Amino acid sequence: MSGLLSASELKSQFPILQQEVNGHPLVYLDSAATSQKPRRVIEAVQRYYERDNANVHRGVHTLGTRATDAYEGAREKVARFINARSASEIIFTRGTTTAINTVASSYARAVCKPGDEIVISPIEHHANLIPWQQAAKATGATLKHLPVNDDGSFDLEGAAKTITPNTKIVAFTHLSNVLGVVNPAKELVAMAHAVGAKALIDGAQSAPHLKVDVQELDCDFFAFSGHKMCGPTGIGALYGKREILEKMEPIEFGGEMIDFVDLFDATWKEIPWRFEAGTPIIAGAVGLGAAIDFLTEIGMANIEAHDRKLAAYAYDRLSAMDGVTVYGPSSGRTSLATFNLDDVHPHDVATVLDAEGVAVRAGHHCAQPLMRWLQVTATARASFYLYNDEADIDRLVASLQRAKEYFGHAIG
Ligand code: PLP
Repeated sequence: MSGLLSASELKSQFPILQQEVNGHPLVYLDSAATSQKPRRVIEAVQRYYERDNANVHRGVHTLGTRATDAYEGAREKVARFINARSASEIIFTRGTTTAINTVASSYARAVCKPGDEIVISPIEHHANLIPWQQAAKATGATLKHLPVNDDGSFDLEGAAKTITPNTKIVAFTHLSNVLGVVNPAKELVAMAHAVGAKALIDGAQSAPHLKVDVQELDCDFFAFSGHKMCGPTGIGALYGKREILEKMEPIEFGGEMIDFVDLFDATWKEIPWRFEAGTPIIAGAVGLGAAIDFLTEIGMANIEAHDRKLAAYAYDRLSAMDGVTVYGPSSGRTSLATFNLDDVHPHDVATVLDAEGVAVRAGHHCAQPLMRWLQVTATARASFYLYNDEADIDRLVASLQRAKEYFGHAIG
């Protein structure tokens, strides 16, 4: 397949998308919050519970072995999906938030001291903001922010001045969940490395929409969530370079992560298990593995082309509408469009759209500092995935037009 995917063919593989909402065929435009799940992912989870369910790494019985194989097999798939050197560099987490917290609580607290700097950006999701605020407070390090241009894209010249020899960590989003802009990740990683700092990429929005190659990016850490890429909720991953993970202390302790335990002390298993205390999210990992198979068969390059095309189409159509403001750069975008309609509160816009079966998100999108920078309290956001097509965006625009007329009359 090339160019636009056959979204209608793909849509038929998603049971949830076959319904009507408020008397209209559902148009789901909230995949940046969570994507829908194809039948084969749902069935993989069900099959696991019906045939293989047991705890992992413990039982010698057949089900225990099958469950362990399924769980570790999923880890191999994740490693291949982002081109990690080995599956031992993949830690299963609850999602992006837990992955970033692991690095902020373990790595950052071990290496940072007063006078050191942690560099993030003002456009981050709270998940890639608050863990660093906390790490800075705990260690006495200084939190700094990369400069951004007027359209929200990173100012690379400014970044070179913000990242200094005192910088220990640079953490930034690969693809903004508000602005829809793909950031120059490789360049920022190189800038971090040039001063001896480590780089973490928040890949929550990029892993579903871009072909990610952690070796090519050369990032030290990459965090992402399964539920945004057709997988189940409650599962995600932290990639870390082996030599860094090996030096990191776990942040959670208990079963599954130990080597030797006596009454007063314990030693840890090797990576990645040292970071996976307790019974892991086994069925979630199996579902994520099935989602990766699904995305890989379609081809991430095809998905990327499709999503970029849809984002450009949405940007053009929405910004051509009188009274609609679309946020973020006009090019280099993918997967979403964040907008406001005149002075109408985005919650009201989303409610009117929902009445026509069009699901968009409204709010601060877990990016309150970015909302303040945009000088708004909230926005609406339409986000797209491989099961959407231009007809879905046409439905959005038509419903928005009716909302505009409705509120125009209501206000006027
Ligand atoms: N980072 C970005 C850019 C996001 O968009 C999100 C979720 O919307 C997250 C982090 C947090 O992801 P999760 O809630 O799956 O941990």
